[in-house]
Amino acid sequence: MEEFVIKRLNADNRIMFCYAFDITIQEYLKHYGESARVLCLNDEDYIKKLSLYNKCCEERKRGFCVAAITGHKEFFGIDFIVNNNVLIPRPETELLVQYSLKILEEKYSTRRPTFNIIDVCTGSGCIGLSLFYNLLKNSSAKVNLILSDISHNVLEIARYNAECIKKRLVDEKIDISNSNIQILEGDLFENMPSSFKADVIVSNPPYVSENEYKSVAIEVKKEPLIALVADDDGMGVIKRLLKDALCFLKSDGVLLFEFGSSQRDRVSAEMLKCYKNCEILLDLAEFPRIAIAKK
Ligand code: GLN
Repeated sequence: MEEFVIKRLNADNRIMFCYAFDITIQEYLKHYGESARVLCLNDEDYIKKLSLYNKCCEERKRGFCVAAITGHKEFFGIDFIVNNNVLIPRPETELLVQYSLKILEEKYSTRRPTFNIIDVCTGSGCIGLSLFYNLLKNSSAKVNLILSDISHNVLEIARYNAECIKKRLVDEKIDISNSNIQILEGDLFENMPSSFKADVIVSNPPYVSENEYKSVAIEVKKEPLIALVADDDGMGVIKRLLKDALCFLKSDGVLLFEFGSSQRDRVSAEMLKCYKNCEILLDLAEFPRIAIAKK
């Protein structure tokens, strides 16, 4: 009989262990958390789970982050499916969702408002889908959401996450019949129906410069380059986003997007060229992170 000693695991290993053994963190803490414990591997199922756990540890050593290994990442309280084709959702991006919700909820005081929302460079869909879920759930709103991305590979993930969100809302007895999610392949607003005008456009575009990319963490290097790096010293996509969004915003529409802390002055200058009202928000680490541009 094989034996495997589980020592106290660090947070990353704990998540991978729970994933491989198909248990919750609470179950892990109850059964294995206190002290080292010996697992007797006399059961084929256990051997399979252990070998999956060991495989996860190998991937982690190769530099993949835990979310890319387990295929799950929690964002804004929702479990999103991810893979190596999408940017792994970051906690600082939650600020973008939080502010978009604030803006939308303040804008409408009607009982069942309708919101048109566009999420460009959507990746896993986490920003747009978090808005969709929260607006339907908390404001009983109707939402027309468009998710778009240039890379064909990510749309499959965004589509899967969209189906999960819709299913969750239906399970929670929320009426989704008048809301919809459209998924488009294209560079920013390419292929966007020209008649669609948004209350809010959200985006976490690629904004890392080629130079900055040289010093990003190994985990980030494993993520898709196209989701991270932009030309023009990291400003290329942001400049196009600011310009092109104007055609797809309602007259009182708002564009919110994430940018890198070193870009604050350049982002402000670009925004002031074509928007009346501009604001920059700091993330929890007090880095400038979110831009809000009003038409
Ligand atoms: N914030 C991300 C990072 O840490 C960059 C995300 C992006 O380019 N949109 O690398």
